[in-house]
Amino acid sequence: MMYDIVVIGGGPAGITLAKRLGNKYKMAIVRPEDHSLIYCAMPYVVEDLINEEKCFKKDELVTDSGANLIRGTVTSVDFDKNEVVINNQTPVTYRKLVIATGAVPFIPPIEGSNLDGVMGFKTQADLEKIQSLLKNGLKRAVVIGAGAIGIELAQALKHKGLDVSLVDMASQVLPNLVGIDFAQKAAEELSKNGIHLMLNSRVEKITGKTYANELHLDNGEVIYFGDYAPCSGNNNETVKGLVVFATGVVPELSFLPKGVLNTNRGGIVVNERMETNLPNVYAVGDCADFKGFITQESAPGKLATNAVPMAMVLANNLLGNNSSYKGFINGAATKVYDYYIGGTGLSAAAALKEGFEIVKGYSQLTTQFPIMPGKKELRVKILAEKNSKQIIGGQVISGEPVTNLIDLISFAIQKGATVNDLIELSYSAQPYQSFYPAGNAIVMAAENIANKI
Ligand SMILES: Cc1cc2nc3c(=O)[nH]c(=O)nc-3n(C[C@H](O)[C@H](O)[C@H](O)COP(=O)(O)OP(=O)(O)OC[C@H]3O[C@@H](n4cnc5c(N)ncnc54)[C@H](O)[C@@H]3O)c2cc1C
Repeated sequence: MMYDIVVIGGGPAGITLAKRLGNKYKMAIVRPEDHSLIYCAMPYVVEDLINEEKCFKKDELVTDSGANLIRGTVTSVDFDKNEVVINNQTPVTYRKLVIATGAVPFIPPIEGSNLDGVMGFKTQADLEKIQSLLKNGLKRAVVIGAGAIGIELAQALKHKGLDVSLVDMASQVLPNLVGIDFAQKAAEELSKNGIHLMLNSRVEKITGKTYANELHLDNGEVIYFGDYAPCSGNNNETVKGLVVFATGVVPELSFLPKGVLNTNRGGIVVNERMETNLPNVYAVGDCADFKGFITQESAPGKLATNAVPMAMVLANNLLGNNSSYKGFINGAATKVYDYYIGGTGLSAAAALKEGFEIVKGYSQLTTQFPIMPGKKELRVKILAEKNSKQIIGGQVISGEPVTNLIDLISFAIQKGATVNDLIELSYSAQPYQSFYPAGNAIVMAAENIANKI
């Protein structure tokens, strides 16, 4: 079978390409899963807030546009013949190839990482394994990695009544999202709700015969699963406790011939048009290595909110327009019990590491007029580069969702806005939805920076 465009991968990047190009080209999306998943919602399935089916994306997202959906795994690619092979048997040829294979959980190669009960958290199989163990009496879990995914999963497991430890080698939670000042509130909430938070702790080894029995940390502490009764899950694995690594992801490139495409730690190297070093071969989403917007150097950015715009840029270019993606800004958010926490751009630690001289501005208001009964706390931090006064980062913590404020700060970064631009921000106010007209959290944080400069 010959296609104009073959996309390997049916995640957010692949789906975005299908939606935009499926009616313009003869196109195939290849993916192995029965269902494409809404990964972001997986912790809430564990928590029983939504059922698993709610996490399944409809195939029509791909097929409604006219694109073909091929269920299978690309096992090899021959760039000379313009051919991919599916499930080691079916060759499919392409004029243009898009690699959108995402990334897989990184499980450090330590002793015991292959024991039963040690896992990552990304696939439907991961989700169903946890659900079946929960159903069969699982009592103990250790989540490694206190980033957004680890924190959301730890809360879900705690909600199900488990004894939960959350371990991170960093000295704070959410180290890639917010500074230590904002992380403190999240840490307090986790501890207050009974999650054992173990920071400055690196997992050294996991011991046991067939399943994880003890987890050893580099500070000498040991987490024992031995007291708990064994329980079996859907795949006949018997475990006494669960160890879930939420320690980041690595690009999925295992099916590619070695040394043909330029790669970096983050994945396949692409330019602003999502082109690889080979003509007619492109990469988008988590499998691609790309630059940060502020540093213009290779940067982390494994987020659906980066994968989708990368795919949109590529789709535009394949339609004959001239689009470019300027780099990851990495706006992201999470929820820690009653608090919503988000960050964008560079954190202070990351900015200092990059050699920026920074000034931080803070504001603390309420989400509604302070006289209103439903008001919640709202704290904003904005980071500016001292000389240019350009905004390079921001963080928000609140009792109400923060993504709109995070997106506003991202937009300021994207447009090269300065502290003065934010001071001049035109905003709205209403008793149920904002602080008084006399004050706006973004403006006040920017004014705080101006006062310091
Ligand atoms: C639990 C969890 C929560 C998350 N929460 C958020 C969030 O709140 N916000 C956010 O922005 N991001 C979040 N993310 C990250 C986000 O899901 C990813 O960044 C995003 O899915 C990347 O999209 P992608 O299309 O590049 O890759 P993926 O979604 O990983 O899709 C890759 C696809 O390629 C397929 N594939 C791989 N190899 C092959 C092959 N050889 N042949 C055929 N198909 C192949 C895969 O099976 C899959 O279908 C979360 C991730 C997880 C796991």
